[in-house]
Amino acid sequence: LIEANHIEKSFGELQVLRDISMHVAQGEVVAIIGPSGSGKSTFLRCLTQLETADRGEITICGKQMMRTENGNAVFADPKTLHEITLCAGLVFQNFNLFPHRSVLQNVTDAPIRVLGISKAEAEKTARSLLEKMNLSDRADYYPCQLSGGQQQRVAIARALALNPRVLFFDEPTSALDPELTGEILRVIRQLAEEHMTMVVVTHEMAFARDVADRVIFMDGGVIVEQGRPEEIFGDAQNERTRAFLSSFA
Ligand code: ATP
Ligand code: MG
Repeated sequence: LIEANHIEKSFGELQVLRDISMHVAQGEVVAIIGPSGSGKSTFLRCLTQLETADRGEITICGKQMMRTENGNAVFADPKTLHEITLCAGLVFQNFNLFPHRSVLQNVTDAPIRVLGISKAEAEKTARSLLEKMNLSDRADYYPCQLSGGQQQRVAIARALALNPRVLFFDEPTSALDPELTGEILRVIRQLAEEHMTMVVVTHEMAFARDVADRVIFMDGGVIVEQGRPEEIFGDAQNERTRAFLSSFA
């Protein structure tokens, strides 16, 4: 469902991604772990069109988003890029909700505006997603009236409202108090049980171990090591992986 090959990205003199390749199959849950500054967010941003990679090939949902010709990145036409946007949702660390819109409006905005779905139908879908997120009674609240965990569940409902085939999460719990982290991880775990394809950047090692099918350890802009959780957490081969994981012990 996701094929990224040889992705490179620099900010000025600083090369942040050095030849990163990642393939994710339909239904797979991949956790990306690694120290601060290792390029995890930049990689997700390149995959979700928030940042443009300098070189490499990216294909998402069977549609080629970028390729490299003569050393230069070439991007797909706007229509294809738009189709990829609809296929791949993103949930941020800081929720990024519209502050002046109600919970319901936050969830219905994109389906109405982008997909052209009727307001009534968008609201019907939104209410069922809010129910799934255990937020039925908060539909008419504004984001500032919600806890961080509730805001993040609205953000997940908003991403799901476009019916994506893959969801990216960039540290979805790191802005939350520990007692609110669990409720978000439960929601992601439930989506995993429903076979949603997900790529989750996380510092929650217990979660990565329990929920991910595969764990990728990034450091210094490269994928140092990847494997099944029991391989990475039980028997990491690389010294840098071991050193990183020991800081969580
Ligand atoms: P964290 O765990 O702290 O979120 P990360 O692995 O997500 O870290 P990135 O945010 O991808 O790391 O950043 C990788 C490097 O790229 C850092 O050195 C960062 O300062 C740099 N960087 C990221 N975005 C930009 C930007 N827009 N302009 C310049 N440098 C940037
Ligand atoms: Mg980051």
